[in-house]
Amino acid sequence: MHAEILAIGDEITSGQLLDTNTQWLSQRLEEFGIRTLYHTTVGDELEPCAAVFRQAMDRSDIVICTGGLGPTADDLTREALARAVGVPLVCNDKALEHIRRLFARRQREMPARNECQALFPEGADMIHNPNGTAPGVALEIARGDHGPCHFFALPGVPAEMKEMWADSLGTTIRRLSGGNHVVVRRVIKCFGAGESQIEAMLPDLIRRGRQPTVGINASKTTIILRIKAEGPTEEACREAIDPTVATIHQCLGNLVYGEGDDELQDAVLRLLSQRKKTLATAEWGTTGMVAEALDNAANATSLYRGGLVVADRSVLGPMLDVSNDLLAEHPPTSAELVRAMAIGCHKRFATDYALAVGQFPEFDPTASKPGMAHCALATADGVEVFSRPYAGHPAILKILATKMALNAVRLTLLEKP
Ligand code: ATP
Ligand code: MG
Repeated sequence: MHAEILAIGDEITSGQLLDTNTQWLSQRLEEFGIRTLYHTTVGDELEPCAAVFRQAMDRSDIVICTGGLGPTADDLTREALARAVGVPLVCNDKALEHIRRLFARRQREMPARNECQALFPEGADMIHNPNGTAPGVALEIARGDHGPCHFFALPGVPAEMKEMWADSLGTTIRRLSGGNHVVVRRVIKCFGAGESQIEAMLPDLIRRGRQPTVGINASKTTIILRIKAEGPTEEACREAIDPTVATIHQCLGNLVYGEGDDELQDAVLRLLSQRKKTLATAEWGTTGMVAEALDNAANATSLYRGGLVVADRSVLGPMLDVSNDLLAEHPPTSAELVRAMAIGCHKRFATDYALAVGQFPEFDPTASKPGMAHCALATADGVEVFSRPYAGHPAILKILATKMALNAVRLTLLEKP
């Protein structure tokens, strides 16, 4: 059994509106173990809508359509559905009563136009819309010997659509799916190696057809592993996922920093809290992005004491005690300068750890050898400098440097239990 989702409206096909309904519905269907095989979007035109409906009911067992149930001339879903199935539109008394009652409750006169929202393809049932005028439409379409298509049309307004799912449609669809099949996902996050490198470290896991499945993708150099298990109960799925997670940890070690919504800063703050250590920052190239990440982290604690944002070398002396000799000798992008910044930050903030990010070299995509971006971490035991080529897509260079700096703190903390 598979599903298809249809989004109706010129707003979507013209790019004015992002179709989030389709995304939301696909997620709900997956939780019931129903695979969505098609997403189809069509503008507000009667015959094209009818053609898309015909195609969907022919090839998909469950079809959920959103949008076009309003009372205005461009709302064509009811009419297109009737045309696709080849039945007339007839008044659904329950739907008309619902619309009348809703207007009465809002103490508004019901415009004649709204009556059209009670016109349903013959044979269709109403899906209750608790707080909206447009009732949903449910229609079962016979398809010869390969079982019926279950077609559901919902309003486009996301809040109404979601409410109708929770109120009744979710239960109906769960029943259609047999109700004994669920899907559970778990997300593992890694940093410090490329997508293909990580894939190569997990020889057997990314294989197609494996159960549970493991998908890999990269988002701004964070590598995300998505594990998906299907089974009769949530518990069975979680049990099936556990050994896969253990294998991932075994193969990737410290490259794994968290799960789900975790970001690197969450991992850093967790480690600081476990080891009861404090941290401060001094940033030049990342202009406060490391401080912001740490401050916004879900489990932000007073262990992150604060930071300094540097925008000009003239403040390095007064604020971070960088000597004039050093400033005269080394360029702002040098490792020597970032080392001195970390030492100054450590002294000024009096924290256990002080992270400094230096100024970045000029970004030159044509250079045969890119400049280096440095950060440094100072503790009572000394300073360590971490460097990487300042190369990558210009849109994410600073984000990358922010992550590199946070990861340096994470790895250092891991080494010091
Ligand atoms: P209405 O009675 O409000 O006209 P409708 O069922 O006719 O409801 P549409 O006219 O297609 O729905 O859309 C109403 C509004 O709902 C849109 O302006 C938009 O804000 C939102 N909407 C519609 N479709 C989607 C979608 N696929 N994803 C996200 N939002 C949507
Ligand atoms: Mg509308």
